[in-house]
Amino acid sequence: MAEPAPIGGESYGEIRRAVRRLCARFPGEYWRDLDRARGYPEDFVTALSEAGFLAALIPEDYGGSGLPLSAAAAILEEIHRSGGNGAACHAQIYVMGALLRHGSTAQKEHWLPEIAAGRLRLQAFGVSEPDSGSDTLSLKTTARRDGKDYVIDGQKIWTSRAAQSDLMLLLARTTARERVVKKGEGLSLFLVDLRAATQGTSPSVVIRPIRTMINHSTTEVFFDGLRVPAENRIGEEGKGFRYVLDGMNAERILIAAECVGDARWFIAKARDYAATRQVFGRPIGQNQGVQFPIARAYAQCEAADLMVRRAAELFESGAACGPAANTAKLLAAEASWAAAEACLQTHGGFGFAEDFDVERKFRETRLYQVAPVSTNLILAYLAEHVLGLPRSY
Ligand SMILES: Cc1cc2nc3c(=O)[nH]c(=O)nc-3n(C[C@H](O)[C@H](O)[C@H](O)COP(=O)(O)OP(=O)(O)OC[C@H]3O[C@@H](n4cnc5c(N)ncnc54)[C@H](O)[C@@H]3O)c2cc1C
Repeated sequence: MAEPAPIGGESYGEIRRAVRRLCARFPGEYWRDLDRARGYPEDFVTALSEAGFLAALIPEDYGGSGLPLSAAAAILEEIHRSGGNGAACHAQIYVMGALLRHGSTAQKEHWLPEIAAGRLRLQAFGVSEPDSGSDTLSLKTTARRDGKDYVIDGQKIWTSRAAQSDLMLLLARTTARERVVKKGEGLSLFLVDLRAATQGTSPSVVIRPIRTMINHSTTEVFFDGLRVPAENRIGEEGKGFRYVLDGMNAERILIAAECVGDARWFIAKARDYAATRQVFGRPIGQNQGVQFPIARAYAQCEAADLMVRRAAELFESGAACGPAANTAKLLAAEASWAAAEACLQTHGGFGFAEDFDVERKFRETRLYQVAPVSTNLILAYLAEHVLGLPRSY
């Protein structure tokens, strides 16, 4: 059989090859062992950080590489396409975007070089709360001004990597919801230093891990009278939600790129198995019932990839990219899920065996139907904001 052509595009070829070389040092066995122990891939994250990949979007003036969003998308796609999981560190690439776009010069000069060098980790983003996931604006964590500080009380949930972060970007309410004119107002954004706050006998921040069906280092975080200097507020008081929205588009595009990477991993894995597994004296890949789901997933993945590139292009040009970023996320998450399903089915019983990595990646890619934004909420956004239909909630 002729060697099949490589699946997928090759923009940023040099970066992609460098990421692939790095990922080759962290094979399936590495991720499997961590998955069983629900361990954090410290060595992998350190290697990415030392290679400069996590500082891709930080401007050169602050010690980063100053690359566009599409380059970061290529990095994350390659991690997933190699069988790894960028969720351990993807937020280090994009959470700093709020600081970069809306922080003061003094804040940027203080924090960004340390983040770019990997000496500080800013990879926790505290938005979701137990009673406000999709309905972000109903969040209850408060930040009350007291002299030169704000005092933070409340609880976040699903704050991923909080235990592996020095800093957290936190969205909290500074004006009660009943007292604001527009419901997106009254929320403010803070850069919270977790290092001292989590120490001592009665810490003002307590982080508790949540064990989930995937290895994601996600946590719940409790704030009890945490004092944050007012100089750590990003931008103006009350405008935090607007600042967060910019970053959410970047996050959606990058997560969509991870989904494209997952889809490509599943498709290649399914193709290789279908081509070699002999049943009834011939390769199972000779049956259309086996070929077609893989071929369909391939087509879905290629279309999603184009949408990711289009959304990244719009983001980079500074144009409005909400519809494109949401569409990219929706299509890419659907493509990765279709590819995961085709891959698992192609493997028959072996799809369930840990050593094949299919079941692990299958669990991991399922997340993207729910987080960072669920499929239904994307559809509701497109229906309302693009199609002009009445708001459904
Ligand atoms: C592993 C993991 C990691 C995460 N990491 C982070 C993180 O780092 N930081 C952070 O802030 N958050 C994080 N999240 C939270 C994530 O963003 C939320 O889970 C997500 O936004 C959905 O919110 P929810 O879980 O409260 O679901 P809900 O809002 O309770 O929704 C439940 C279901 O109902 C549907 N639904 C709700 N309202 C409507 C409607 N009006 N129309 C149609 N359908 C609707 C939703 O689509 C969903 O399927 C993470 C979640 C997980 C599972």
